[in-house]
Order: sequence, then C-alpha cells, then structure tokens
Amino acid sequence: MTKVLPFTNDEIVELANSHKTPFHIYDEKGIRENARRLIRAFSWAPEFYEYYAVKANPNPYLLTIFKQEGIGADCSSLAELSLAIRCGITGEDVMFTSNATPALEFKVASAMSAIINLDDITHIPFLEECAGLPDLISIRYNPGPLRTGNAIIGNPQEAKYGFTREQVFEGYKILKSKGVSRFGLHAMMASNELNGQYYVDTAIMLFELAAEVSKELGIKFDLINFGGGIGIPYHPEQKAVCFDEVSAGIKAAYEKIIVPAGLHPLKICMELARAMTGPYGFLVSKALHIKKTYKNYVGLDACMANLMRPALYGAYHHITVVGKENQPADYMYDVTGSLCENNDKFAIDRRLPEIVPGDIFVIHDTGAHGHSMGFNYNGKTRSAELLRREDGSVLEIRRAETLSDLFATLDFEGLGKFC
Ligand SMILES: *Cc1c(COP(=O)(O)O)cnc(C)c1O
Repeated sequence: MTKVLPFTNDEIVELANSHKTPFHIYDEKGIRENARRLIRAFSWAPEFYEYYAVKANPNPYLLTIFKQEGIGADCSSLAELSLAIRCGITGEDVMFTSNATPALEFKVASAMSAIINLDDITHIPFLEECAGLPDLISIRYNPGPLRTGNAIIGNPQEAKYGFTREQVFEGYKILKSKGVSRFGLHAMMASNELNGQYYVDTAIMLFELAAEVSKELGIKFDLINFGGGIGIPYHPEQKAVCFDEVSAGIKAAYEKIIVPAGLHPLKICMELARAMTGPYGFLVSKALHIKKTYKNYVGLDACMANLMRPALYGAYHHITVVGKENQPADYMYDVTGSLCENNDKFAIDRRLPEIVPGDIFVIHDTGAHGHSMGFNYNGKTRSAELLRREDGSVLEIRRAETLSDLFATLDFEGLGKFC
C-alpha cells in the first residue's frame, strides 16, 4: 500500500538537489486544514481551545501558524516557555504542564500568566513559595489502576505523572483554602492512540471526576483538558481518528455529565501534537550505499539524529522511494543511518523496489516527535527544516546544525594552557 505525498516528484527531486539532504519538510496547507477541521469539530462547545504540545516540533514558524489558527502552546520546559514568549503566545494561551519542575520554570510560567498544570500535590507549597499561587490552577490526574494505557506512555499506574485520585480531592481543597478561585483538571494517559473512543473515555472520566469534586468541595471548573495522545496512521493500512466522531462522543458526555452537574459552560481543552503536525512532515534523504552481507542494507545520509522513533519505539515510518512508487516492492532491505549503533535503522526487513545509490527516500509522518527528538551522538548534526507554503514556495525555517554549533561549548583555547 502507498501513502500520498503533498508534493510532486519533480518538486522533491528539485528540493533534494538544491538543498543539502537530509532535511525535514512540513506542509503548511495540510497543517492549517487539519487545525481548522479540529476546531470546526468542536464548534458546539461553549469554548474550545487546543494547546499544541511544543516539544513535538518546537519551531517558531509552526507555533506562529498555530497562533494564527487560534491555537496556543502546551509547554513543559523553560525553553518551550521562552519559545512561546518569542512567538507572542502568553497568558492563558499557554498551558504549562511540567513535571519535576525547577523553581525558575514556575517563576517564568507565573510571570507570563500561563495556566499552570500541577503534576504533584507537593508542588502546591513549592509553587506558592517560588511564585505565589495564581488565580487559576489546573491539576493533572493519574487514574492509576482505574485505566489502562498504551505502549508509549505505559500503564497509568507505572507512569510518573499526575496526582492520585485521593490527592486530586485533597489538592483542590488546599488550593481553595489558599484562595485559588479558578480551577482546571487535566489528564493524559496514552500516546499515539488510534482508537478515538479511548480519548472519549478520558473525557468521560474527567467529566465525572470534575462533577464529583465540584459536589464535594463546592467548586466550579474553568476548564478541562484531555491532554494529547490522539494517534496518526503511520501504516498505510491504518485509519486516522475522526475528529468529528471524537467530538460527538465528548459532546454526548458533556450533556450527560457536565450540564446536570451545573458545570456548564466549561472550556474544553486539548494538547494534541502528533495529530496536529505528525502527518504533515517528511524526512527527505538520499541513499548513499547499498550493502549486501547476511542481509541487504540501504545506508542513508540521514540517521537517528534526524528521526529517533524507529530506534526508540520500534516505530513504523512509511517510506516512499521517489519515482519508484509503481515498481514492484520485490527487494527486502534494512534501511540504516551511519551511527555506530546497530539500532540506527529506519526500517527493518522493509519491502522496497530495487535501490541504487542516489535514490531519494521520503520517510513519512515526521512532523511530530521527529526533528525535535534528535541528538548529537557520533557528532551527527541535526538537519534543516523547510516549510512548503500554501503557494508552493519553500522557506527554510531552521538551518542545519554545523560543526561550529556542535563544538560551540568546547574550550579549544583552554587546551593551550591545559598541556
Ligand atoms: C507529549 C505531550 C502531549 C502531546 O502528545 P501527542 O501524543 O503528541 O498528542 C500533550 N501533553 C503533554 C503533557 C505531553 O507530555
């Protein structure tokens, strides 16, 4: 089975020859249309807000596209908060969902009036001490044994995130007693989940919990945030989650639980990342070598520095060999990078047409958790990122790292005195 590309083959060949490979390229049109689909699906809600999880693709051009579409930023570190500020995304357009949080990060989040989403009950006095308690505070819930998770995050009971059920009640009680007047509730239990009902079930779980807390403590909620986690069809046979179906499920639960609990109107939030940019990114690379030993190998000019997911999770990323789409996939290859690490492979035992050096490989679905996860092992530098604008023009939105970038933290001057 194949996956379609938003570019013509001529375009890709021309880009692969005019820019140094590898590079990631993002499809602005796809990103915008998908963002509008999501927001349209939730037009029934009194208020709906998506916070794009910055970690998945921390590029200011993408954050700006989202800002223009009415989407904010979900940040979890100092760098991500700073990036949001640099893009003019501040205040309640930022959700700060961190864990093991340093004091400085709470201070910055507080100074920019971001919505702080606490990961632990002990963070209440910690935050109070370092930045004071804001008006609005959200709590991250971890249902533990009450829910099962999936492979990337693992079972909630084993996950490091969030408050237990008892701590949620205790936490709001403490916050209320300290004068906090606006409350949020958050959970994120799965990642890359293709069953839309799982997400609806998370919403139901949070709605029910909010209703219970509200009844017991006499508080109202400003917002409920279902987190990220909606998956994307990395395999060509898989089907994308339908936003309209998820929305319909959440709407039914809202009417059944939130309205009778007297919690309407409530702001409904999400922190999707993979489903927002994943399918709209492509890693373009060239085949350098074909090697035949006990197996057949294609060695690319890209490596794990450009895309970690296959090595990290055994994740499948579809590959299109440009211009060979209609040739029979009657060869089997391991598609590798050049790291001195045997798991530096984009695909194992992948059926492909016969490959020759110079073939252009497009690795699909790299728009989220792709470039951003990269690292510099073996001194491999991370690639450029390009944006294909809606008019078909191409803009470099991040240059490739150079050896000077890589060595910038080393003190070669000091070496003279050292020896
Ligand atoms: C990673 C993350 C997200 C985004 O997850 P996706 O699976 O990419 O949608 C959202 N919220 C938090 C707190 C995260 O850590």
